[in-house]
Amino acid sequence: YDNELTYLTYKQDDSEEAFHQAYEEAVESVRADLGQSHPLKIDGEAVETGRTFTATSPGDLDLEIGEFTAGREQDVEAAVSAATAAAPAWEDRDVESRVQIFQDAADIMRDRKFELAAALSLENGKNRTEAMADVDEAIDFLDFYSSELERVDGYEFDTGEPTPGQHTTNLLRPYGVFGVISPFNFPMALFVGMSSGALVAGNTVVAKPASTTPLTANLFVDILHEAGLPEGVINLVTGSGSDVGQPIVEHEDVSGVAFTGSRDVGLRIQKTFMDLGKRGPVIAELGGKNPVIVSDTADVDDAVEGVKTGAFSFSGQKCSATSRVYVHEDVIDEFIDKLVAETEELTVGRATERDTFVSPLIDDSAVEYYQEITEQARSDGTVHIGGNVRTDGDLADGRFVEPTVVTDIPHDHELAREEHFLPFVTVHPVSDLDEGIEKSNDSEYGLCAGLFSQDEAEIERWFDEVESGMTYVNRTQSATTGALVQAQPFGGWKFSGTTGKFAGGYWYLQQFMREQSRTRVE
Ligand code: GLU
Repeated sequence: YDNELTYLTYKQDDSEEAFHQAYEEAVESVRADLGQSHPLKIDGEAVETGRTFTATSPGDLDLEIGEFTAGREQDVEAAVSAATAAAPAWEDRDVESRVQIFQDAADIMRDRKFELAAALSLENGKNRTEAMADVDEAIDFLDFYSSELERVDGYEFDTGEPTPGQHTTNLLRPYGVFGVISPFNFPMALFVGMSSGALVAGNTVVAKPASTTPLTANLFVDILHEAGLPEGVINLVTGSGSDVGQPIVEHEDVSGVAFTGSRDVGLRIQKTFMDLGKRGPVIAELGGKNPVIVSDTADVDDAVEGVKTGAFSFSGQKCSATSRVYVHEDVIDEFIDKLVAETEELTVGRATERDTFVSPLIDDSAVEYYQEITEQARSDGTVHIGGNVRTDGDLADGRFVEPTVVTDIPHDHELAREEHFLPFVTVHPVSDLDEGIEKSNDSEYGLCAGLFSQDEAEIERWFDEVESGMTYVNRTQSATTGALVQAQPFGGWKFSGTTGKFAGGYWYLQQFMREQSRTRVE
């Protein structure tokens, strides 16, 4: 199973120029096609509601991505009916032909990888290498989940003959209809990952992508249909959380929900399930406030590189973003100086520029929140670099802000506790590893954590004691972000997740199924 990222392959091949050219051509052709109307997709039909919303590019607010249909409660009703009607035949489909659809969809995506990445970049602002990785990850989810279903033969086991004449089969069966509610930050990977998890397991789906990233979701649903997914098995209802998301969650025929997003919304979905007496799973991946410890034994340059990438790639708009750094007091001055110097070199800009590292923010409220927290950082701490909205040159046409490094904030200050989803990192001194671990764990979140250390005993102790689903030691490429499907299953502990089973891991699909034991006397 091969899940090597496309842009890394190009780097190894020494053909980076070819990568850039292919991406740039794709941007031009995608751009020429933008601005279309996109109806809902219910039971294989295009559905208009008479209400629309416009998605624009966060890097260039004059660029219209398209007109999308705003769904209403009655559209959710129609989508759930279609998904319910399609469920029995989809469950009955044999493993081989079910799996084939997702493998074919993966092939289509491989062929159109640059076009899909270009559309994604224009839609959510993600720079080209990360947009490519987003599409790569989506393809990996399709390959991995479908190969898993094959490997376990559809989760059906013959348990033998417990007593003479009795014969038992033990199997996992889909629940029925799943709601999938996905975020803007990995608009292809997470939409595809959650939908394909539910579908490969044999459920049918009603899906609502983030209102800021409906295009990638539309492209993927079309690809599934092109690959032969029967009508009604996935239904796409774009629109707002209150008009579409909430009715999906509340619908009595929606047995389970897969959600990635904020802690508060995830907990509300769980509460709704409990209040309504719904028994199916809420498979949620929620926020993070991801700590990194830099020991006095660390290679400081490696730690700086890892923290810079972890905190500022896609402008920190990742659940996995590095957001608090606990640095041994003996190396903290060196660490801050180097982090500031490296951050100064980062290019803020659009995906269409080759050297862009820091992407635009997704919406106006993110910019306002950035202004609020940087203001607070100035008054309560020290801002070493960043803190400003960029309005110079043509950056004024988008939502660009500076990557920001802050110190002198107490560890229990809200700036070091709340998830921001912004390019904002706080750095704190610690006197030893124990203090670093204690402070890392003093959080309601437990998604990703990093350690930079050259000491084997420290590394072992940290792995055992840090409360985090994802743990990374000496990861220069990025301290806490960038998990690879299957190799690094992704999920969180504490308020960072609800089920303790990880996306892209060996136990993910099972969550979308319930067990049945079938005994017959022959
Ligand atoms: N899987 C992504 C990573 O490892 C993060 C997903 C998210 O932000 O929701 O960086």
